[in-house]
Amino acid sequence: MEITEIQVDGYEKVVRCRDQKSGLHALIAVHDTTLGPSLGGMRMWPYASEDEALFDVLRLSKGMTYKSAVAETGLGGGKSVILGDPKTDKSEELFRAMGKFIESQGGIYITAEDMNIGIPDLEIVQTETKYVTGLSRSKGSSGNPSPYTAEGCLIGLRAVAEELDGDTSLAGKKVVIQGVGAVGGALAIMLKEEGAHVTICDINEERVNQLAAEHGFDVVADGDHMSVECDIYSPCARGAGINDETIPQLKCRAIAGCANNQMLESRHAADVRARGILYAPDYVLNAGGIINVSVELRPGGYDEAYARERIARIYHNLKKVFEISRRDDITTSEAALRLARERLDAGKVAPK
Ligand code: NAD
Repeated sequence: MEITEIQVDGYEKVVRCRDQKSGLHALIAVHDTTLGPSLGGMRMWPYASEDEALFDVLRLSKGMTYKSAVAETGLGGGKSVILGDPKTDKSEELFRAMGKFIESQGGIYITAEDMNIGIPDLEIVQTETKYVTGLSRSKGSSGNPSPYTAEGCLIGLRAVAEELDGDTSLAGKKVVIQGVGAVGGALAIMLKEEGAHVTICDINEERVNQLAAEHGFDVVADGDHMSVECDIYSPCARGAGINDETIPQLKCRAIAGCANNQMLESRHAADVRARGILYAPDYVLNAGGIINVSVELRPGGYDEAYARERIARIYHNLKKVFEISRRDDITTSEAALRLARERLDAGKVAPK
């Protein structure tokens, strides 16, 4: 196994692993550990080149630093990627080698699930390293993060409602959700319970029909969902949905959903603001999952009640973001970044 360091400005440590025996070619990027050891998921993807993988891991690890700083998880930002085809290249040897690679970093990087990596893969990784989170509840771990991400979104939507109308109640609010998977589906149900009018859309027709039949949601066809008049448009499918083409269609008063990287480019946050639409920055709103996982790393181990208490703070974090945006006359995206940097700066002078 050959582990080599790659020098990248602005990153604490970036390492590459090549292992002939197992075929592992992977990268770990530790962006910042000011607030604690870095935590971020492990992704497997058939990258066309190492440069492409490096671009991805650098971008994602930096995002984790800001997400964790705002969410006050006591963690830094990191990420890992395995170059390979998840359909054909997975093996026990590969994940064991990945475990050894993570262990060799001495705990500055802690892993979790991400795209194309499941719990069975992480269970193999765990045979070689203790720096793994997000395994099953039966093993003392924090389990599936999605319900906690959904709960955090619901709490964040209360801050959005308050910013819109001076009242945290979601009763009577019209919410359109794009993507009713693990997070969006749970969010839709909770919103309905709070008295919101929920319209759903998903490319998975079976899922839409089932949810609509069970819970009485209105349904809109994918493609038409952006132009439905509503209080809150909630992107809970994929990223990059807010762009030059879709912004003119929007008839919502706020955008608030769990999907990562909702704005195709950062300038789109300014376009949305110019139209008087309030944007709840994705990584502030969708932090419930990472907060839940972070609780697993406390000295006493995972505690669900404590995790939910911490998740409730998403409300206050969003309020702060909106306040900074108003105070400094900047977009809410810039305000979230400012809040993250303030917390990182505070961490540089305070002990960890
Ligand atoms: P999921 O795969 O369970 O659900 C996504 C849903 O979106 C699916 O039902 C899918 O059919 C649908 N979809 C995909 N493309 C669509 C399109 N173009 N139009 C309409 N529907 C579409 O995923 P999830 O775990 O619910 O995550 C949703 C988003 O939230 C992702 O962007 C994810 O990265 C982000 N996120 C998830 C978590 C978590 O804890 N699961 C945490 C943070 C962020």
